[in-house]
Amino acid sequence: MEFNFKGQTAVVTGGTRGIGRGVSEALLKAGAKVVATYQSNDKAAKEFAESRKEYSKCLDLRSFDVTKYTQVEDFYRYIEETYGEFQILVHCSGIRIDSIVGMMQESDWRKVIDTNLTGTFNTCKFAVQNMMRKKYGRIIIITSPIGKFGFLGQSNYAASKAGQVAFMKSLSKEVASRKITVNCVSPGFIDTDFIGDLSKEQKQAYLDMVPLRRFGSPEDVANAVLFIASTEASYITGSSVEVTGGL
Ligand code: NDP
Repeated sequence: MEFNFKGQTAVVTGGTRGIGRGVSEALLKAGAKVVATYQSNDKAAKEFAESRKEYSKCLDLRSFDVTKYTQVEDFYRYIEETYGEFQILVHCSGIRIDSIVGMMQESDWRKVIDTNLTGTFNTCKFAVQNMMRKKYGRIIIITSPIGKFGFLGQSNYAASKAGQVAFMKSLSKEVASRKITVNCVSPGFIDTDFIGDLSKEQKQAYLDMVPLRRFGSPEDVANAVLFIASTEASYITGSSVEVTGGL
């Protein structure tokens, strides 16, 4: 399917690495202006921009912490001043800090919930305010099947990801009358830095669980995201699309 996002502006949080980078690249190729955000890894952001020089006029990189309400507010003020309106938010930023519950540091519980769940609220709140005015918008939150099934050592992550789905469902009902759709994309194992710390044996064990017998790529996820972000997907809202290789 050929997508055409000419004339549209997209905000992609976590948009300079991993899945977010794949989404940013796909949107740029399809003609959108992309504001790709990240927390602090300037090196990765620079490397992304260098590798995509052909899109330098359409790619804007901004860094802020999604857990910090006022930083998010400042970011959206910048978006309003620079672009006025924008049509698409793809919320990809996220972390995992694994530990079994009995051993989990309280700070690691809070950090994961703050980044993945509070970060989703902060980012979506200001996006919705902007999109309501134009009565159009596409919000896509990257969640995980772990939120549905749970996983040993990932209670904090699973709770945050389940929370994202519940948040998405409520928000989709609040903004439907303004023609804003809100959905989740739920990727399986995707080959990014996010799972870079797994041992060879762990990776093989996870691979054995995947019916399609390969890890997904950021492009696999981006293809689903672009469809949901397109005008053609106007009747899809409040839903979660799995991109898991059949997991
Ligand atoms: P990466 O680790 O490759 O990238 C994470 C991105 O999020 C980075 O750009 C990072 O910024 C940004 N980020 C992290 N914390 C913050 C913060 N506090 N404020 C702002 N930005 C932040 O991860 P993936 O691309 O693999 O994952 C993206 C999303 O997909 C996550 O929500 C994850 O839960 C989900 N997911 C991933 C799967 C996988 O197998 N990879 C499977 C299922 C879901 P910086 O570069 O500055 O560090």
